[in-house]
Amino acid sequence: MIFVSRGISTVRDVLTFFPRAYEDRTKMAKVDEVEEGAVATLPLTVVGTRKIPMRGRGRMMLEVRCEDSGGSPLILKYFYVPRGLEAKFTAGAQLIVTGPVKKFMNRPEIVHPEITWGASAAPDLPMVAPQAGSATSVPARDFGRVVPIYVEIEGVPSRALRKVLWEALERYSGFLSEDLPERSLIQHALPRLAPAIRSIHFPDEERVADLLAFNTPAHWRLVYEEFFKFEYLVLRQRMRAEKEAAPSIGDAGGREASLALEKILPFPLTGDQTKVIAEVLADLAKPHPMNRLVQGDVGSGKTAVAFLTSGAVLAEGGQVTLMAPTEILAEQHFKNAIKLFGGRLNVALLTGKTSTGDRAKLLSRLKSGEPMLLIGTHALLEDSVKFANLQFVLIDEQHRFGVEQRRVLRSKGTRSEIDRVTGLTQIVLPHTLILTATPIPRTLALTAYGDLAVSSVREMPPGRAPVKTQVIRGDARVHAYEKIRSELQKGHQAFFIYPLVNDSEAEGFTELRSAVSEAERLAADVFPEFKVGLLHGQLKADDKARIMDQFARNELQILVSTTVIEVGVDVPNSTVMAVEHSERFGLSQLHQLRGRVGRGQAQSYCFFFASRKTGENTTARLEVLEETTDGFKIAEADLEIRGPGEFLGTRQAGSLPFKLAHLVRDRDWLLKARDDAALLLSEDADLMLPENRSLREYFIREGKLQSDRLKTS
Ligand code: ADP
Ligand code: MG
Repeated sequence: MIFVSRGISTVRDVLTFFPRAYEDRTKMAKVDEVEEGAVATLPLTVVGTRKIPMRGRGRMMLEVRCEDSGGSPLILKYFYVPRGLEAKFTAGAQLIVTGPVKKFMNRPEIVHPEITWGASAAPDLPMVAPQAGSATSVPARDFGRVVPIYVEIEGVPSRALRKVLWEALERYSGFLSEDLPERSLIQHALPRLAPAIRSIHFPDEERVADLLAFNTPAHWRLVYEEFFKFEYLVLRQRMRAEKEAAPSIGDAGGREASLALEKILPFPLTGDQTKVIAEVLADLAKPHPMNRLVQGDVGSGKTAVAFLTSGAVLAEGGQVTLMAPTEILAEQHFKNAIKLFGGRLNVALLTGKTSTGDRAKLLSRLKSGEPMLLIGTHALLEDSVKFANLQFVLIDEQHRFGVEQRRVLRSKGTRSEIDRVTGLTQIVLPHTLILTATPIPRTLALTAYGDLAVSSVREMPPGRAPVKTQVIRGDARVHAYEKIRSELQKGHQAFFIYPLVNDSEAEGFTELRSAVSEAERLAADVFPEFKVGLLHGQLKADDKARIMDQFARNELQILVSTTVIEVGVDVPNSTVMAVEHSERFGLSQLHQLRGRVGRGQAQSYCFFFASRKTGENTTARLEVLEETTDGFKIAEADLEIRGPGEFLGTRQAGSLPFKLAHLVRDRDWLLKARDDAALLLSEDADLMLPENRSLREYFIREGKLQSDRLKTS
């Protein structure tokens, strides 16, 4: 039936089809008391009906004249008249009517109201939620209480759904099993499942504001349950991974090698770099695979972490690979490694540009087992790239890669080995380290990346003045251009970023400045004395690389681009980042773009241009960027404003299995559930104790205890 289209197939699914909102219908109103536009519930008597032709539409509309007990008139209007409806409005019929009361030609009316028929005794009905098994409960379902409003499923109105839910609750809510451990319920003073579900749908309390804010014990209980079950599975997944085998690295000279490399660096490590390197080395030393995420703003020095920990693996004879999302980035890492360590770290580069001859030589070195750090792009994923002894896999800017690509790369380091002690074959996996410049709010890290350990590099290397940031609207543009000109005259360079490559005629896009046409305008009209280059995703890889090179050598002073430059590019001489239509980007993305400047010693500037039409709210949102350069704070703000899709991509965000729970609003419950799930796992990971039996049965029923679906890395 209708529910199936929504993936609702069991009684439990029906009962957990939660309301999207609530309406306060506790009070019966009189026509004269209702404020215009307010939703009201009114007992009315039908006076008569008439049909009126609708001009030019060849159809009739229906008007039903009614009055309340005081004789004040109100009209019900139907522009679409369901079959058989008109006949039901006999004169004298009693109705209870709900809907927004509007005035038309100074007469109060409700268009397409929700109606309860023949409800003469209505105002005196008791307000009770149906109790399981009590066949005599009075159906005060649609008025005289706070009523639930549901999302309409394929034209089935909220009222019909309310009826389905009412009946389902009456018949089945007594059969709902309680899955949560008793301890959780007691500790957090949460109601049991059946009463919680009943009062989510048909609440006894009348504080609509609390209901709308999901701030009632019933809501807390269901939110907690979603988080608790999810966290249990995620942490269990992690616990299992921690039992798999991986090479243990560090004790045979690796640690010393890493320290030796550190001494070669031309700068001292920051405190956070030191801390994160220690965390990674500790993971590498365990005979179990590391699954760790290192998050830190652009420029926080994550690459040094990658190099110094790779050095430990090479020193003990293992191979390492580092995959980056673009050729520019891979080359940059490669050059950097050589610049920093000379010959002391054995690095090689493999990209789509590597010549056939070089590639063949490289592949045979790999096969021979030569310890090396192979840096590359997607080219690393090809079948022909085989490692003899891949022990450590690093992935830079991971959000640019799919789950499958990460899996393929890791599989190149998976092998079966005979255990020397037991003589049994065992699977040995490589260690994995993921680097990301998008700081992830803690709530997301706990959910989407719950099976990864997380390290954060919050501290920036010293000597970097924060980028001066301004949100620009309207006439201030002229001043911004003058500031940019003065930077260019000092010999510095500037980025200009646009949301589109070409001008677009599509609706909603005609007013957008595009990279191609703006590159011409900037070169011809605004900055004729400087050279302007254009970079975007539609160019061939060769052309992109050529333009990047020219910019890096200061043969171009202005680089006009789309967000293709978002990732990685390092040109310390550029001191200006200008983003057009910044209202179109997420805060974290803008923050990333800002990270392209402020990489050298000179003061840098960032201008976020917003269209004149941009509303106050959006401007206020952008101003967060003026106030802070802490990517973690910005990420929190972004999560609040734009939701998890901004960080995970819509698909992965959509796969978070929460019906009621909300990562921002219910943050405190997530943290509690997380702690409780961790405690449960430490005490009774397989849920064998009697008090955890119902939870175990739930997971078995749902087929989740054996599931691998939660793997995110
Ligand atoms: P990201 O975290 O964005 O990958 P990088 O690793 O590319 O940052 O580092 C940015 C720049 O900062 C590089 O030029 C790097 O050599 C330099 N750097 C890294 N660590 C330090 C440090 N502790 N002190 C000074 N400069 C550093
Ligand atoms: Mg980086």
